[in-house]
Amino acid sequence: MNATYPCNVLMLYPLFVADSFWSFAESCKLTGVSRPTAPLGLITVAAMLPGSWAVRLVDCNTASITDDDFAWADLVFTGGMLPQQADTLRLIELCRSRGKPVVVGGPDPTSSPHIYAGSDFQVVGEAEGVIDEFVAAWESGARSGVFTAPKFQADVTKTPVPRFDLLKFEDYLYLGVQYSRGCPFTCEFCDIIELYGRVPRTKTTPQMLAELDVLYKMGYRGHLDFVDDNFIGNKKSLRLFLPELAAWQRTHDYPFEFSTEASVNLADDPELLKMMAAANFFGIFVGIESPDPATLVAMKKKQNTRRNIAESIHKIYGAGMLVTAGFIVGFDSEKVSIADAMIEFIEEAAIPVCMVGLLCALPNTQLTRRLAREGRLHPNHDSGPTTGGDQCTDGINFDPARPLREILTDYRQILESIYQPGAYASRVDRLMTMLDRSRQRHELPVGDLRGKVRALETVHRVVTAIPEARDPFWRTFFNCAKRDSSSARIAVAMIAAYAHLGPFSRRVIKAIDCRLADLDEQISYSTAANITMAKNTPNTHAMGID
Ligand code: SF4
Repeated sequence: MNATYPCNVLMLYPLFVADSFWSFAESCKLTGVSRPTAPLGLITVAAMLPGSWAVRLVDCNTASITDDDFAWADLVFTGGMLPQQADTLRLIELCRSRGKPVVVGGPDPTSSPHIYAGSDFQVVGEAEGVIDEFVAAWESGARSGVFTAPKFQADVTKTPVPRFDLLKFEDYLYLGVQYSRGCPFTCEFCDIIELYGRVPRTKTTPQMLAELDVLYKMGYRGHLDFVDDNFIGNKKSLRLFLPELAAWQRTHDYPFEFSTEASVNLADDPELLKMMAAANFFGIFVGIESPDPATLVAMKKKQNTRRNIAESIHKIYGAGMLVTAGFIVGFDSEKVSIADAMIEFIEEAAIPVCMVGLLCALPNTQLTRRLAREGRLHPNHDSGPTTGGDQCTDGINFDPARPLREILTDYRQILESIYQPGAYASRVDRLMTMLDRSRQRHELPVGDLRGKVRALETVHRVVTAIPEARDPFWRTFFNCAKRDSSSARIAVAMIAAYAHLGPFSRRVIKAIDCRLADLDEQISYSTAANITMAKNTPNTHAMGID
């Protein structure tokens, strides 16, 4: 859009909590980068601003804001997700102390706008639907306001190519692009469907290829993640897009290896699997949540029921794509311990990287509304984690149906078992026997320096840092190297992931032990209080008056 006046916009991407499953801090260090991935949302908004406005981006996770940044800026944009809430609030305060008007937006401000009331402007919902309105208001002199986009209406076919030029590629393990928004399913705990709706909207094929062209021309090579909520949410469009994507990859000699997130019903569609393999997809994140069918029905995740989930995962392996998966502990429908069943499932499916978290009632979900109706939500349930923890440790922000002690004990047992080095290495080994990479490109893209970090050196550094992993990890590495080079390369990536996941899981276990100790303290305190009360209360039964 056009604007009458120039404006200097400072975009600040807030810090994530320092230590979380997704930080992959130790793995980033191995490859010499600062963060797994870049702020795609902010650089997309940057592309929507008037051409006469100048934009400067500071990712606070990789760099510091300078006095010069503030002196230069007329206006600050910030915001992000729940794990960035604490730092977003800090940045808003910082802007106010510097006298800079600040605009906040993104998923968490959309779900919980009241938390960000201290900002000058709030953009609620998808920016495409409302950014022009904001620019017009700013130009006409408005210095505060709330701009709310109509829900699920943003036309993503009009979304511009993100301003990739604002990024320092060398700071990140991989970059992201987005093809679709929304998901057709109804999982009770999920905020995606509340933020982006249940009718997935997709970009056009030329639009997507234009984004890839820009990245290619800028020299980016290697891992590119489709950050979609559910990449296969709109299969009809996807079937048209994937052959074009595969053709683009062929023409450009496969500069990118793709990953994404998809629902497990991907496994039911051999044609789609083949198309994704042909486009050089190598990894899929799948939300499995629970091995218990009754729990899956109760959470309204019906797409995961009436199937053998492990077999579905193996079908995806058969198409040459590895699976990382999400699991959750703490659902109301868990009648007994879920730990053994979850561990058995993870081992049977042979999924090395599992994000196991405690159920968290996220703001703006069906789950949170139900718990509120039932009077079970904790105060401050919508506060993001602070630097002291993340969703893994801070979950169960409500009164659970099962005793909290049992849930925490289950959670602890699962983490202790699946991230034991021998168990992890054995899952990597078994995954590699099932991963059929015959349809994918084996060689790394020319120019992908990061991917070329030497395999032996990586394994050596991981086992030096984690000596108990030495034997199982070397054994797995040599088993995979004997099979083929592509298999060894993926095994090394999994071993590099363990550099973070192993120590992180042990830190989570410690945090859970603290929660368990707090529970013990509360119980002994309330027992002592009850005894004192009983001693001081007249025995009405003995007096015959009850
Ligand atoms: S499949 Fe994933 S994105 Fe879709 S509703 Fe369920 S949790 Fe949300």
